[in-house]
Amino acid sequence: MARIFGPVPSRRLGLSLGIDLVPCKTCSYNCIYCEVGRTTDLITEPSSFINIAETVKELEEVISKSPPDVITLAGSGEPTLNLDIGVLISEIKKITKIPLTLLTNGSLLWKEEVRERCMGVDIILPTLSSVFKKTHDMIHRPHPGLDLDRIIHGLTETRRLFKKGYYLEVVLLKGINDSDEELSGLKKAIGDIAPDRVQLNTVVRPPAETNALPLSQERLEEIKRYLGGNTEIIAPSPIKGRGKISDSRAERIFEMVRRRPVTIDDISNALNISRAETEQMVKGLMIKGIILEQRHGDNLFYTSK
Ligand code: SF4
Repeated sequence: MARIFGPVPSRRLGLSLGIDLVPCKTCSYNCIYCEVGRTTDLITEPSSFINIAETVKELEEVISKSPPDVITLAGSGEPTLNLDIGVLISEIKKITKIPLTLLTNGSLLWKEEVRERCMGVDIILPTLSSVFKKTHDMIHRPHPGLDLDRIIHGLTETRRLFKKGYYLEVVLLKGINDSDEELSGLKKAIGDIAPDRVQLNTVVRPPAETNALPLSQERLEEIKRYLGGNTEIIAPSPIKGRGKISDSRAERIFEMVRRRPVTIDDISNALNISRAETEQMVKGLMIKGIILEQRHGDNLFYTSK
């Protein structure tokens, strides 16, 4: 599968072209709400995972055909676990002015060297869902070497040093971190971190575990009012953006898999696009949790959830 995926409609960023920086489910967390499934490699030490020159070349080809609203360092694991992320950011900045964003769980930003590598992006979007260890452990099932106080300090320190966009995601789960005590703790921490925006999220796609339950829109609205200021709800949005061709293709792929399981070749033939381009789009939809991969005999099929 390609390292570049999408473009996919992002609830937070518009039409986003993603770069997957780590092997699938290599992460420092194992969140119960993860749309990609359970973490298989729970680690905190960054490594080299991808060929930077090849990735940048691939990116250049894709954006020359259909420029997205943003390029996002994200994917099916934690991107700051890629040791070469700083070099990749510098190389991308040499070839395009399209805003570059980093979708991170924020758990490693307390490490100075990790933070330094990420400073070249335009927007950092870290996550904080609880200030209580017990709840944080329940939601994120972090690597045992991680410490919540240190993580929160890292989020604050990154904000202090990073003068560009800083959007803090709060993932809210029914019955787990939506109590008054939880919200009061979050409000205080958010005040200390001082992000440009607070983005409230909940479960919108099938999660890794069935106990990850969504909050209602009404409850999200209440919490938004309680947190106040620059808080927004990241509501599931209809596909939008300037890349009309990519949008309609993503929709057509979704319509195909909704009707019956299909292969990459089925999609590639129906949409009259190359196999490589099809794989790139399918991967984006899989990472967003919109479609599923299933093996049947020697063939891989794609289905809706
Ligand atoms: S949601 Fe993000 S941080 Fe959590 S396990 Fe999945 S990839 Fe890792």
